[in-house]
Amino acid sequence: MKPGFEAIIGLEVHVQLRTRSKLFCACRNAYGASPNTQTCPVCLGLPGALPVLNGEAVRLGIRLGLALGARIHERSTFYRKQYFYPDLPKGYQITQGPVALVESGSLEIAGDPTVRGGDGPVRIRLERAHLEEDAGKSLHDQRPDATLVDLNRAGVPLLEVVGMPDLRSPQEASDYLKALHRLVVFLGIGDGNLEEGGFRCDANVSLRPRGTQALGTRVEVKNLNSFRFVKQALAHEVARQTALLEAGGAVVQETRGWDAEAGETRAQRTKEAAMDYRYFPEPDLPALEVTEAEIAAVRTSLPELPEARAQRWRATFGLGGEEALTLLQDPAFADYFEALAAASGQGKAAASWMLGEVSRTLNERGGGIAAFPLPPEALAELVRLVGDRRISFGTAKEQVYPALLAGEGRAGDIVTRKGLAQVSDRGAIETLVARVLADHPGPVAQFHAGKTNLRGFLVGQVLKAGGGRLDPGVVNEVLAEGLAKGGSAPHAGP
Ligand code: ZN
Ligand code: MN
Repeated sequence: MKPGFEAIIGLEVHVQLRTRSKLFCACRNAYGASPNTQTCPVCLGLPGALPVLNGEAVRLGIRLGLALGARIHERSTFYRKQYFYPDLPKGYQITQGPVALVESGSLEIAGDPTVRGGDGPVRIRLERAHLEEDAGKSLHDQRPDATLVDLNRAGVPLLEVVGMPDLRSPQEASDYLKALHRLVVFLGIGDGNLEEGGFRCDANVSLRPRGTQALGTRVEVKNLNSFRFVKQALAHEVARQTALLEAGGAVVQETRGWDAEAGETRAQRTKEAAMDYRYFPEPDLPALEVTEAEIAAVRTSLPELPEARAQRWRATFGLGGEEALTLLQDPAFADYFEALAAASGQGKAAASWMLGEVSRTLNERGGGIAAFPLPPEALAELVRLVGDRRISFGTAKEQVYPALLAGEGRAGDIVTRKGLAQVSDRGAIETLVARVLADHPGPVAQFHAGKTNLRGFLVGQVLKAGGGRLDPGVVNEVLAEGLAKGGSAPHAGP
């Protein structure tokens, strides 16, 4: 085994739940409203106001738990976590403890072969996932002389997903986060918007000598709000700790923040300054009880999970792993692909169109697949025309597809109207091949003398002579026969 240190990483992810109202009051749960317009005595923490638990948040928590193969506790409890901060109006956060709604479970990711013994998938275990309320937001950049507070977010429901320290590299951390994000978005648990804070990640990182079991001193890196930052911040933190330990120093247990501009993590507070939250049971809320029947109802409502979908596409369409995951970037995009594959009967080709031309169009136009003008059936006709060798892929991409997007009618009609149909008639192709061989005695002779890569040149000449409409498969066959017969300039030596 390689000497040196091994990175041990565990992630805590705060997922905002997609409910209509907040966790304990009827205020709207929606991003972007004018500051402090979505508040009431409950989420402002006014004296005498009493929280009432939102049942939809509970169902969403169960939904994610079941998708992760976790245990759902039929009885879990709420605690108060006390700390003082201007954006926390009650002076405490209502969170779950000591029993959380969701316990254990796991998520499969592709293991990082550079740090694992072999390759192949690994299961990352979860410790628990608990319900809690979000805090408000301090706005430091609105005025030079003051910090403003917006309490619209105070009381928004969160599910905090606490992973075990099973990750072994920044790459694995990023893969895990993406897998969890996919699940959240596909199951409709949250919108997963990282920029708006809908999916936030903190990471615990420590190092230990390879081959040992005890965990080293850990550092918590806070607020990693993009997949790229997670990878960069963890890579930086692993390198920083490695340098410290190799120089004979010690890692200090502390909280660090990621400075994206400087490209480094910075100390925020040490363990000595860490807060004592003085947790105690929330007296205003009864224990959360869910019945077998309620759990079963959520279970029956689960759709096919993204990982299972990727697996099915690999098996039935022969897609690669990366290809399948890219198609799963967004549920509507994945559904479109599924419809295109079904309507064209060609899964592999449908995947290429989605990841090629369709993605290019979406990048240019914006608005995502919802704004894409072609229904899957219309594009499927084009995919089939290529598959049936009625037109070449080049013609489809360069001529028919733009005409389809421009609303010039159905693919088949465009091909007919513009005379784009591919020529696969052997007789016509034989004539062209014979002519090209006769016109290029030099290259033909060089080909026979061993410069076999001139074959490509000759194929190109034939295709060109056919105006780009010849079936390349038939051209290749006929040309091979022509060359085997010695071409039309059999003995012109080099
Ligand atoms: Zn409220
Ligand atoms: Mn939390």
